[in-house]
Amino acid sequence: MQEPVIGIDLGTTNSAVATVEDGRPRLIPSRAGGRLTPSVVGLNRNGDRVVGQAAQVLAEEQPDAVVWATKRFLGRRYTPELMQQARSLVPYPVVAGPTGDVRVKLAGRVLPITQVSAMILGELKLDAQAHFGREVHKCVITVPANFDDNQRNATREAAGIAGLEVVRLVNEPTAAALAYGLSRGFEGSALVFDLGGGTFDVSILDVKNGVFEVRATGGDHSLGGEDFDQRIVQWLLAQVDDSYRDAVSRDPTSLRRLKVAAEAAKRELTEFAEATISVTGLGDHAGSRRFTDVETALTRDFFEALSEPLSRRCLEVCQSVMAEARMDPRTVDVVLLVGGMTRVPLVRRLVADFFGRQPSTDVHPDEAVALGAAVQADELVRQSGQALLLDVASQSLGVGVLGGRVKRLIAKNTGVPVVARDIFFPGTAGQSEARIPVYQGESEFQDENHKLGEVVLKNLHVAARGETPLEVVFELSSEGILAVKATELTTGNMEAVRLEARPSLPHGEVEKLGAEQASYAQEQGVVDAQRAAEMFRKLLERGEKLSRLLQRSAQENPSPEAEAAVGNVQRLLEGGRTALDAGDTAQCARIARQLTQLLSGRSESRG
Ligand code: AMP
Repeated sequence: MQEPVIGIDLGTTNSAVATVEDGRPRLIPSRAGGRLTPSVVGLNRNGDRVVGQAAQVLAEEQPDAVVWATKRFLGRRYTPELMQQARSLVPYPVVAGPTGDVRVKLAGRVLPITQVSAMILGELKLDAQAHFGREVHKCVITVPANFDDNQRNATREAAGIAGLEVVRLVNEPTAAALAYGLSRGFEGSALVFDLGGGTFDVSILDVKNGVFEVRATGGDHSLGGEDFDQRIVQWLLAQVDDSYRDAVSRDPTSLRRLKVAAEAAKRELTEFAEATISVTGLGDHAGSRRFTDVETALTRDFFEALSEPLSRRCLEVCQSVMAEARMDPRTVDVVLLVGGMTRVPLVRRLVADFFGRQPSTDVHPDEAVALGAAVQADELVRQSGQALLLDVASQSLGVGVLGGRVKRLIAKNTGVPVVARDIFFPGTAGQSEARIPVYQGESEFQDENHKLGEVVLKNLHVAARGETPLEVVFELSSEGILAVKATELTTGNMEAVRLEARPSLPHGEVEKLGAEQASYAQEQGVVDAQRAAEMFRKLLERGEKLSRLLQRSAQENPSPEAEAAVGNVQRLLEGGRTALDAGDTAQCARIARQLTQLLSGRSESRG
């Protein structure tokens, strides 16, 4: 059997892993029992890692032992601006690594961001392995459409540490469109409105013949569900008794309690017109230990009024993306909702009013990206040729020329993959070597762009200035990796480089972290396998009971269907027992899924 390729949504707030089964994309449940894995990583008192729900629990007891929303720093360089931004976004310390990469401090240890991401990916890999009962090595991972080369490479680096080979990086809006089935027969423009826990992205895609082109993207990376929660927290703080308010607003435990209550109220308001809020034990937990409570009710109308500045910011982003795409919002053919926050009625109303149509809601908004990644993974396995996933270059690319200028070869928003070529002449007469610097950015001046690297063409045919033509070819892949080739046309002398962004970690560290991760995964794999065998035994016992029940009812009311049902369960049980004895974990996992379906009466087994 072919090795499964999984689809992963490595999100800012939550992550998820999915696969295609029986022709339909489905989320793989986490071993902790949830649909989504919170993108939270912690180190407990023994220094052992905890990921996801367990890390959220740890955050309650030891807030300084966990980090979250680290995707904001993935593949970024440590700069004064970033440091300032980090201070306003997260309470944990963000520090510089030896290569200028970004690291976080938790429980007294410093971890590279790629390692934190690798821990999350590693957990999803283990979830998938538990689901399939076999090793998983390949995946498709989604990234925001505006991720640059460094951020894309850091995602690959994290996957590498987690023991995963990335067969394709897919833009998140494209994945969402795949989950909504737009690769099948849809033609037109699709707007993806993605409001998650910490970030907001809007993308407009052109879909034609199953090919997706990202026409324009925009976003606000400090706008998300957390900001809506904070509006409620501030309102709650205003209701705290005057003599406690200062202490409460400085006390991390109290603030966390308020935030949890605010988020719960926000979710309740998705269903109901009013939410009751009750928070106890607010005060100075480290000092005076005098506490107060807040009891109040929040109506949906008032929550919407509190959120007004945030909804305005959402609309501003939509307006600028429409302007960049030169489109009228009312001409958009479909609007797709992504991200947990798009369940909020206010957000749905805003979207409906702005685009003049109801958004599509057929797919759970917080699952869409992972499901789309699974669809793409499945397609790559089967190579069906559908959904080519045509994206665009996120920034312009060009060659440095005389006068400190840049000659652009590929313009921003050009569809990829793309090949562009131009002829250049070495600047100085009689030189034997030509350096061709490559720049990324929108300015016509070199020093206002980002230098990606250079191609050096040696042993040039010595000629007078302007007489040795060089052809430069840029080949930009569908994942945004640039291959540059320079050829001296008179001699055919050729040089090529692949311009990938620098790895974010120092040499050797990736291997070391990878080895650490592999040994953790191996230990976990043993524990998971024992637990899976135990659960499978129990499942077989429940299956036996079902089989006896079906046999009895077949005797009482004989029919070909009743007999077939008995035969089906018995075949599964027999197969299960044989697989268990043979230690065939993949077969056990497959039969476990079919038996679970039968026992829950959800659908017929595939046999
Ligand atoms: P995501 O990053 O897509 O997982 O989105 C997470 C954000 O969605 C968080 O801010 C959640 O509070 C919010 N969210 C998830 N479900 C709901 C809901 N039913 N009602 C309101 N907000 C929700």
